[in-house]
Amino acid sequence: MPAKKKTSRRASPKRVTRAAKSSVSEPKTPRITYATLAVTPEDDKAYDAAIAKVRKQLGKHFANYVNGEPRMSSAGEFAHPSPVDTKIIVSHFPKGTREDTRYAIQAARTAFEKWSAMDYRDRITILRRAADLIVERRFLLSAWMAFEVGKNRSESLAEVNETAELIRYYCERMERHKGFVMKLESPGPGQKTMSVLRPYGVWGVIAPWNFPFALATGMSAGALVAGNTLVFKPSSESPVAGYEIYRAFADAGLPNGVFNLMVGPGSSVGVEMQENPGVDAMIFTGSYDIGMKLYKHFATKFPKPVIAEMGGKNPALVCESADLDEAAEGVMRAAFGFDGQKCSACSRVYVHNKVKEQFLKLLVEYTQNRVKVGDPTKKETFMGPVINQDAVDLYLKSAEDARKAGGKILFGGKQIKEPEAARGFFVEPAIVELPKTHKLFQEELFLPFLVVTGVDSFEEAMTEANNSAYGLCAGIYSRDKKELAYFFDHVQAGVTYSNRRAGATTGAWPGINSFGGWKGSGTSGKSALGPYYVQQFMREQSRWIVG
Ligand code: NAD
Repeated sequence: MPAKKKTSRRASPKRVTRAAKSSVSEPKTPRITYATLAVTPEDDKAYDAAIAKVRKQLGKHFANYVNGEPRMSSAGEFAHPSPVDTKIIVSHFPKGTREDTRYAIQAARTAFEKWSAMDYRDRITILRRAADLIVERRFLLSAWMAFEVGKNRSESLAEVNETAELIRYYCERMERHKGFVMKLESPGPGQKTMSVLRPYGVWGVIAPWNFPFALATGMSAGALVAGNTLVFKPSSESPVAGYEIYRAFADAGLPNGVFNLMVGPGSSVGVEMQENPGVDAMIFTGSYDIGMKLYKHFATKFPKPVIAEMGGKNPALVCESADLDEAAEGVMRAAFGFDGQKCSACSRVYVHNKVKEQFLKLLVEYTQNRVKVGDPTKKETFMGPVINQDAVDLYLKSAEDARKAGGKILFGGKQIKEPEAARGFFVEPAIVELPKTHKLFQEELFLPFLVVTGVDSFEEAMTEANNSAYGLCAGIYSRDKKELAYFFDHVQAGVTYSNRRAGATTGAWPGINSFGGWKGSGTSGKSALGPYYVQQFMREQSRWIVG
């Protein structure tokens, strides 16, 4: 007889000690978010101390973790250089193999039975502890991020806060819905019916490097709070972040085997996750090409869920009635925050010809005055390096393509080769005016490279905004209520903004601004950071109980 599955709170086995009876609470927004970036002198001091501490640990050798045990790889290690200075080796990690991944999948399968049977409130207690540890370690984690992916201090501190908030928000959702056990209408005397959401089993979690903490933790927390176990593959550009996430969950008391860390190439670890029948579902955040491959090939014998959040080519519309100063600052922040290496980055602008000249003047001024490029650990730095040599090459090629097409380079377009930047991947923020038919309005570059074109009407701007295979974020600057209403009703994007100075297309936050793509930007139609996210990690079981 199969073991009784315990999904409702009454059917719970032994409880983990609960610190306090959990209550449904509204999430409180931390001081440093992507919108505020409000770093105080005390934060600066703590951050600088963390940088000094991490500097001493650079070049360390790390392991993968399966079933709570360190695991090296028969394929050896790889060294990850810093994009700030390629002479600095940030870390050495094992190159996880297919065999290592199979072992991790098996560990996750074994751990599933107990973890899924645990009372959801006890899972929440552990996960909330992990969120608290992440906040406690925020300076250290931000410091690692500077060396590993080149993110500046305010954005990385905001990201660490977001990471903890994601865990807390998904826990709050689970709690608010009482573990997603819902009584349905009674079919008659002595009978009851109910809907119970149950976890799938083992999830493969594959993350990108650009939000190495928030995205990986958010995906993992969604799966875990719902009672799934997982194998997590971070990007090879951000393995220390992956390890630190593992460490926070492990230190919080997550049982062995529930979260297994498997760093390694996509071609071994990623492909094994995709092909191994022991993986019940996949969640991926990354590029369109890889996400689509997973989406098309993961399910073979029967349908299995794939949540893939992919790229973006996010437009901003600047209308005739726009507050141009607000628009210029909002576009600058969204285009060049973390070097445009955000899936939400604003990468194309459609500006009404009547205000184009003034808008571009302001945009260039904001960029010149605010976007200081340099060492991301320095307080004044707005843009650190881009991630690697491929990114620099793509940047230079795009600038060249734009020039050849008769584009006007209004700002930037060159690599920075000053002595202190010489060993890193530093480029200028680029603003380029081009005809709207140019391919740079279609391709995601994932770089600080903004293309702008003039339009003659709001209708033309809307048509062009929707003329994209992607549908992630979109923003508008207008004082015309009809235009605003039309924009929200007709723009083909999952995340939308109007008149936002803090970022034309960026700045999503758990519980405040959900984040998910339409069209080529996402598979599920349900956003991360939002109220429908956790449910995706569960399947419904309908129960009819007589007697
Ligand atoms: P990527 O697609 O190159 O890599 C993402 C992950 O997939 C990495 O862990 C990588 O190692 C892994 N991978 C590589 N090959 C694989 C394979 N064959 N099978 C399975 N996994 C494989 O993306 P990236 O460069 O890390 O991140 C940038 C991309 O991510 C951009 O396109 C960006 O827009 C997108 N992104 C989207 C969101 C979103 O929420 N929609 C958020 C952040 C980033």
